[in-house]
Amino acid sequence: MHELLPAGSCHCGAIQVDLRLSKAPSALRLRACQCGFCGRRGARTISDPDGLATVRAQGPDALIRYRFGLRTADYLLCAACGSYVAAVQGDEAPIGVVNVGGLGVPEFDDREPDPVDYAGETVEARLSRRRGYWMPLAIAYTAPEPNVASGPAAPRAPAGGRSP
Ligand SMILES: [Zn+2]
Repeated sequence: MHELLPAGSCHCGAIQVDLRLSKAPSALRLRACQCGFCGRRGARTISDPDGLATVRAQGPDALIRYRFGLRTADYLLCAACGSYVAAVQGDEAPIGVVNVGGLGVPEFDDREPDPVDYAGETVEARLSRRRGYWMPLAIAYTAPEPNVASGPAAPRAPAGGRSP
């Protein structure tokens, strides 16, 4: 039933996004948001409210979270190459959109996006629209964060120590 696409990734490959879709990619609307941020980046986004997007990064530092305008969502950029990969709203049950253009997902390459313009929306209208159209989005960190509570690191062998 669900279609799992091969992961798309940012330009440098540090961030991957898995897409689990409830329908064929061709059945999803491809959107080109006309705001200043998306326009400058040529973003082409999709969402599938019945699917799931999983953003995979090494750790929180591998993702830049950028907010602007009404500041209701975090725009996720690769900290290494700057690619815009997805936007996410909410901490509990987060929802988001995925920039399949920035991720180079080939299933959407040959499609012309529909221009969409949300300028002038109130905060309430924006949140409500996203609750209807955005998709569940998870962020998975592939490397555990160093546990700073576990005490000092083990002492290092001195440089130029005993030779075998
Ligand atoms: Zn990158």
